Amino acid sequence: MRRREFLAFAAAPLLRGMPVPKIKDISVIATEPSGVRLTVVKIQTDQDGLHGYGCATFTQRADLVVDAVNRYLKPFLIGKPTDGIEDLWQAMYNSSYWRNGPVLNNAISGVDQALWDIKGRQAGMPVYELLGGKCREAALVYRHASGKEISETLDQARKLMAEGAKAVRLQVGIPGMAAYGAGGGARPKGAGMALIQGPVFEPAPYARRSLQLFEQARKELGAEVDLLHDVHERLPPSAAVQFAKDMEPYRLFFLEDALSPEDIDYFREIRAHCTTPLAMGELFNSPHEWMPLIKNRLIDYIRVHVSQSGGLTPARKIAALGEACQVKTAWHGPGDVSPVGHCANIALDLACYNFGIQEWSGMGEREQAVFEGCPQMKDGYAYANEKPGWGIEVNETEAAKYPYGTFEKGEHKRLNGGWGEVRRADGTIINQ
Ligand code: MG
Repeated sequence: MRRREFLAFAAAPLLRGMPVPKIKDISVIATEPSGVRLTVVKIQTDQDGLHGYGCATFTQRADLVVDAVNRYLKPFLIGKPTDGIEDLWQAMYNSSYWRNGPVLNNAISGVDQALWDIKGRQAGMPVYELLGGKCREAALVYRHASGKEISETLDQARKLMAEGAKAVRLQVGIPGMAAYGAGGGARPKGAGMALIQGPVFEPAPYARRSLQLFEQARKELGAEVDLLHDVHERLPPSAAVQFAKDMEPYRLFFLEDALSPEDIDYFREIRAHCTTPLAMGELFNSPHEWMPLIKNRLIDYIRVHVSQSGGLTPARKIAALGEACQVKTAWHGPGDVSPVGHCANIALDLACYNFGIQEWSGMGEREQAVFEGCPQMKDGYAYANEKPGWGIEVNETEAAKYPYGTFEKGEHKRLNGGWGEVRRADGTIINQ
């Protein structure tokens, strides 16, 4: 048999005698079952019942992602074959000429992840199998504990530990200032000069209070539990260096976002002054941001929000780059990642050798009714659902019960309309 004939013969069973599927339709499922706007792209192929889903969630600008998919990617992609994921990713990425922005990257991710889902369904395998298979059984997760008072945070941590959590992120409010997270507090009456209304954040009291939290946490929770903390980019660089150094005795699993993306050159200073493990990257959109930190070994964990980077296709390359430089993965996994996105995170967690930890915010009952087949967490580990592709089916009737705007109040309104502002006591707005 001639070589060319042999190759054709060898490849035939993989194609199963079927023509390559083509993209027949693209739609966007825009739903907020738990009050946070989720965006999921659905690709239907010209083959009966063969479709896929991808996470495109950028909750603060959700409507723009819907438009980017419907108005630009859909006409660009209809009729194209689904099999060349890398080729289609590069074509989408270059199709706007100007690139690496969060709206367009999320739109691309929705398509990219849906194509991986389709390929997994064709193969009858979970996506982690397409990435080389499991190199661990399940993904270690960390949970969130926060409170206005230190005792409240530690009570919550104990509760999570009793449920099996091996790693917990601790955050505490600062008396008289904004609670953790953006816009979470109100300026107290009689708290000095009232130059502004609304949440106030000052670096020094925040640092003092957080150090007290961890001192107390190690006394009460012990040495075994892995503890994490998110600075949320609120400290000026010099204060961040001092803070990371002061946290050293508490042996963190990692300190997250000690600097804002605009200040990442200062990671060299933090590295030079302490051994606190560093995590960064949930705000990154572009290789220009993660490349220098990874290749220069300036962080220990890369925290990219997978859809923000453009989907599974770029994320697996980030993981490979990290592996070569001893940087582990800790993909962003809060409530503004759809269950489809969580499945993509877990596929990477299971298949990439340099997995570090997975953020896990859990999924509510309504979310599980919309997204059938959500991955589960047990005893501090997240598991894949083991079905082909992502193993998720979206119940579109359920999804339609929660159109954007269903929960327009409080925290949900803030998240879905924009990331609330926090200011210094003198009124200066801060990056966070
Ligand atoms: Mg964070």
